Amino acid sequence: MNNKQHAQAESREAAEVGSDFIRKIIQEDLAAGKNGGRVHTRFPPEPNGYLHIGHAKSICLNFGIQEEFPGALCNLRFDDTNPCKEEQEYVDSIQEDVHWLGFDWGDRMYFASDYFDRLYEYAIDLIKQGKAYVDSQSAEEIRLSRGTLTEPGKESPYRNRSIEENLDLFERMRAGEFKDGEHVLRAKIDMASPNLNMRDPVIYRIRHASHHRTGDKWCIYPMYDYTHCISDALEGITHSLCTLEFEDHRPLYDWVLDQLDVPCHPRQIEFARLNLSYTVLSKRKLLELVQDGHVNGWDDPRMPTLSGMRRRGYTPDAIREFCRRVGVAKANSIVDIELLNFCQREVLNRRALRVMAVLNPLKVVIENYPEDKEEELEADNNPEDPAAGKRMLPFCREIYIERDDFMEDPPKKFFRLSPGKEVRLKHAYYITCKEVIKDSSGKVTELRCTYDPESRGGGTPDGRKVKGTLHWVSARHAKKVEVRLYDHLFMRENPDDLKEGEKFTDLLNPESLKVIPEALVEPGLVDARPGTHYQFLRLGYFTPDSVDSKPGQPVFNRVLTLRDTWAKIKKKG
Ligand code: ATP
Ligand code: MG
Repeated sequence: MNNKQHAQAESREAAEVGSDFIRKIIQEDLAAGKNGGRVHTRFPPEPNGYLHIGHAKSICLNFGIQEEFPGALCNLRFDDTNPCKEEQEYVDSIQEDVHWLGFDWGDRMYFASDYFDRLYEYAIDLIKQGKAYVDSQSAEEIRLSRGTLTEPGKESPYRNRSIEENLDLFERMRAGEFKDGEHVLRAKIDMASPNLNMRDPVIYRIRHASHHRTGDKWCIYPMYDYTHCISDALEGITHSLCTLEFEDHRPLYDWVLDQLDVPCHPRQIEFARLNLSYTVLSKRKLLELVQDGHVNGWDDPRMPTLSGMRRRGYTPDAIREFCRRVGVAKANSIVDIELLNFCQREVLNRRALRVMAVLNPLKVVIENYPEDKEEELEADNNPEDPAAGKRMLPFCREIYIERDDFMEDPPKKFFRLSPGKEVRLKHAYYITCKEVIKDSSGKVTELRCTYDPESRGGGTPDGRKVKGTLHWVSARHAKKVEVRLYDHLFMRENPDDLKEGEKFTDLLNPESLKVIPEALVEPGLVDARPGTHYQFLRLGYFTPDSVDSKPGQPVFNRVLTLRDTWAKIKKKG
């Protein structure tokens, strides 16, 4: 993180847990004895896609409140009112992801579709009160007569149908007598309201479509705004937390509940959505990336979905810490993805086992090391954590180092290997480059070096210093594995900010995935299992891919790079 980001992170940290405006409201409500002392939230995903890091913010808020306030509860509720886009696959993945983040809804998993009967009865009630009517205009006519921010809407010619006619038509809508779009049920509120959501919103529409849970029982489906507030009330929710775009819907939320005899009237409170740099978080856009093959599925490690991040190697504790630092506020902003990565590096720095791998190998032959000799050198698994223990690393006359760690004609501050220079091999010996071997095209194919047998373990009796320490693998013992390196999926910091004529897919980074089919790793890594994190020394944090790894043949994802000091020096010139 740079200074600005540090400052941001610190100011966020200053906003101590428990002190954001929503938690304050809850504390005030408790102090005032509201809701009989209950605190009950819910997380209400629509099962039409996989959860992403933005949802994690909402999950950490709703389930976080359950954890922080004694006796508080949080429901998982699937908001499944749209039969056309919803699938069991999404329902399953959402449960898996909430659990993975470390939260639990106990026995309180609900579906809005479980309330379809009651929602229907409430609609009848509204009709009987003269507060809802069947409109027979087309969708287009309804749209055109809605008015604008400056002009009132026009009342529908069907607005004053009798209660009897409305009851009859609504029942026949339910019975399947009409085609999609022939009629809708609208709340009768105020076509002149300055709030467009209050201009007789549609609350039911006809959709001859099978629903993933209710099958063909229904051919009319309730709209989101109508369903959501009633579902909250039926579940005894006290604080209904949603994102800012619902602020203008709050009067409708309250209006519906005020008309009906519901068990309680939850309080809707809005907070800012999470936006992340170099990332899109719209489900529509994420679905397009998947369907059009721009990525390899919802769990592609470049996706901001929780399943993609899990596969990439992000961990739930880091995501929760990130959400804590981002905090909850009323103003929309774009959070720097480096804050997320900073949180993740902190976790992995503590946890990851240190190992050696070479991504772009260059052979080194140590001329004064006996051909038939092999030895085992001791190496720390994690200097940050003595309990992680030690392991033995094989060493022999031929090793591989990183091609980038050698320069034949190096600039001043290059402290790695070059002709005549001495460097330390991590956990092993000092070596000095004696000769550079090239092929006919001039490409370096091999280095001939000598080693100092007295430097075993990384120091010498004469105490002479070397500036560079290189990672390496034994040529005789190393294993070949596939390694996948990732970069931002989008090239623009705000990929939602499109110029005229641009599609968001135009901004995809063509170099977001780089596959290294034959990297070399120290031999113990063939047994690496998904879920274990490694620091490949000097290269970054890695974890085996949970989909493509096979027993004895792991495929490694790079979670994140380490901070690259050399790149910074180079930039400064
Ligand atoms: P859609 O456009 O399909 O409605 P959505 O992003 O609102 O997409 P939902 O499944 O309705 O998705 O979201 C479930 C909950 O997660 C909602 O309460 C929503 O406000 C919250 N949520 C979604 N995206 C974000 C985000 N980027 N930041 C914070 N909360 C979010
Ligand atoms: Mg939504």
